[in-house]
Amino acid sequence: MKTTDELFALAETTKGFMPSDEGRALYQFALEAKGLTWLELGAWCGKSALYLGAAAQERGAALFSLDHHHGSEENQRGWIYFDEELVDPFDGRLNTLPTWQQTIARAELEQTVIGLVGAAEVIAPHFVQPLDLFFFDGGHGHEVAWRDYRTWTPKLRVGGIFLIHDVFPDPADGGRPPFEIYEHALNSDLFREVGAQGSLRALVRINAPGLG
Ligand code: SAH
Ligand code: MG
Repeated sequence: MKTTDELFALAETTKGFMPSDEGRALYQFALEAKGLTWLELGAWCGKSALYLGAAAQERGAALFSLDHHHGSEENQRGWIYFDEELVDPFDGRLNTLPTWQQTIARAELEQTVIGLVGAAEVIAPHFVQPLDLFFFDGGHGHEVAWRDYRTWTPKLRVGGIFLIHDVFPDPADGGRPPFEIYEHALNSDLFREVGAQGSLRALVRINAPGLG
């Protein structure tokens, strides 16, 4: 079993979009989760799964790491976050699944981090287990992000932790949807903010009803 420091070190060398200060905060927030069923939407190469997985291992939780592994719009050829090394010669598409598997294997987290390979919208109606932690880091386009928010956050139990990534109050720093969703969640009476680090926000679910 790898230590937390070893997992953090491994995360540093893993491709992805999770700065180390935010990753460490992710770990700290996750340790506060009240129950043991956790899910991240947006796995990529497993970087955030190492920070969350370190906490999950310590707590005896299961982290479902969901992704179709073909990247978001901004990861495709011609966009700034494109990475040629991740193109699968089989069909010319991005495929982060082999790298994700290697990351989780190297981290010795295969009993803790479980891959859910598929589109979030396809999996959502079948995933009925209430969540104790939900890390929201999938597609950042307006429609996709709002759809995921509306379909996945109702699965969070009262007391469950809702972690949102890429929340940028200043539009110059990044796209709007995560910020708008964060504001919406806070303005509803369903969530309360419990912490922040960089573009990461930690909320806790305080009420049961739907999302309005
Ligand atoms: N958490 C990662 C970064 C995630 S990037 C890290 O720490 O590096 C966003 C991911 O969301 C991409 O891997 C993309 O494939 C995935 N994604 C986008 N839309 C999706 C959808 N509809 N269903 C499943 N995954 C999706
Ligand atoms: Mg992100």
